[in-house]
Amino acid sequence: MSDSNAFTMTPKDISARVLVQEHLAHEHLKNMPSIVDVGAQKKRIKRLLKQQNATLVAHYYTDASVQELTEETGGCISDSLEMARFGSQTAASTLIVAGVHFMGETAKILSPEKRVLVPTLEATCSLDIGCPADEFTAFCDAHPDHTVVVYANTSAAVKARADWVVTSGIAVKLMEHLATEDKPIIWGPDQHLGRYIAKQTGTDMLLWPGSCIVHDEFKVLGVEQLKQVYPDAALLVHPESSYAMAEIADFVGSTTQLIKAAQEMPNKEFIVATDRGIFYKMQQAAPDKLLMEAPTAGKSATCRSCAHCPWMAMNDLDKIEQVLLLGHNEIIIDPALQQQALKPLQRLMDFAAAS
Ligand code: SF4
Repeated sequence: MSDSNAFTMTPKDISARVLVQEHLAHEHLKNMPSIVDVGAQKKRIKRLLKQQNATLVAHYYTDASVQELTEETGGCISDSLEMARFGSQTAASTLIVAGVHFMGETAKILSPEKRVLVPTLEATCSLDIGCPADEFTAFCDAHPDHTVVVYANTSAAVKARADWVVTSGIAVKLMEHLATEDKPIIWGPDQHLGRYIAKQTGTDMLLWPGSCIVHDEFKVLGVEQLKQVYPDAALLVHPESSYAMAEIADFVGSTTQLIKAAQEMPNKEFIVATDRGIFYKMQQAAPDKLLMEAPTAGKSATCRSCAHCPWMAMNDLDKIEQVLLLGHNEIIIDPALQQQALKPLQRLMDFAAAS
């Protein structure tokens, strides 16, 4: 598609989009259970959590209702590193991990003695899907002299093949540390994050060609057009977005770092290039600031507003109640695989603790 055919977002388009969003929100509300129903359901879930010595561990990208319940019950809402750490340190014997499948696996790898349940086993991740263990293992075996670093968004089997597991919040620090070993690096599976880290640290890395379907959709052109309407807005970008997005960002960081940036930067308006689920905690941290989703429109866009992970969206109160009632959707990992995957994960936890 040529530039002249690309979508151009005018102030009129933006107000039309706001109207559409308000309409959709209204339709959504019509189908929502009443406040009384939700209140009664939350009471039931709270009772079940107590009875089963269970705690909720939720990702920032889950629905606000899930995050709210997690807060009310003393659980943890965070990024994948903190979720894993919390899960291994809490006294609860059952973890209800609201996020996607690899997060449940990570919790189980770190806490094999705990029962780990997930609201649905179908919630996966395009990075995990795009990095099958057999193909990744063959790739690594073809480069035996390389240190293998994998992002947390991978299966237990892929982690088991790695030397290090890493999260976006600590990736730069870890790569700077690995640079002292002077060994070539294989990075998988997120190519955008890998490219960003490589540019930041000057590391030469072999990149696995995976990507996140949510962050892949943010487009520079759409952001530039929105910036014309909000010239003072700061652009916050998660590094799973394309490198072109990182280049125009005012701040690039993990989910936790983006929330901190919205709180601490002096700007009153922010364009946020990550899943919109983050707005629940970000708005709490920066209550007087205007937060806008980064547009997913622009040259080569396939979607105008899809800044929400379809798998994260599968987590809801109904499924949490069901999983507590039925005890299904338990994460089970073969003990030998768990031991092997624990090594690079524990290395990450130890490195994070010492950093
Ligand atoms: S937002 Fe992207 S990286 Fe996160 S779980 Fe969804 S597909 Fe995976």
